Amino acid sequence: MVNTAAPGYAYPVSKLIQHRLILRVRCHTCKTLHHYRPEDLIQIFGDADVNSLHRRMKCEQCRRNSALSVDFFQPVGSDAIGLKIRRLVAIKLLRVPVWREE
Ligand SMILES: [Zn+2]
Repeated sequence: MVNTAAPGYAYPVSKLIQHRLILRVRCHTCKTLHHYRPEDLIQIFGDADVNSLHRRMKCEQCRRNSALSVDFFQPVGSDAIGLKIRRLVAIKLLRVPVWREE
């Protein structure tokens, strides 16, 4: 079963968790393909609309999102064999100094 996020229709990431779906993120510029668990992405983006993720995520290779496409599917049968899923290991907080003249 393959589901594609229909444009203009809100589909929150939490729904993907309920239905045990996997997110597939493709960069058409560098041909990178990654799979993510929705429970990992919800930690970063909150319960966002799946249709907004292609604008909020960035390709790790080209550092852009102009050619990202995001859809989701339920891995069954041969789809599930050897499927590599990119898991969230940690979220690093960046310390940025902010200055003021006194
Ligand atoms: Zn890319």
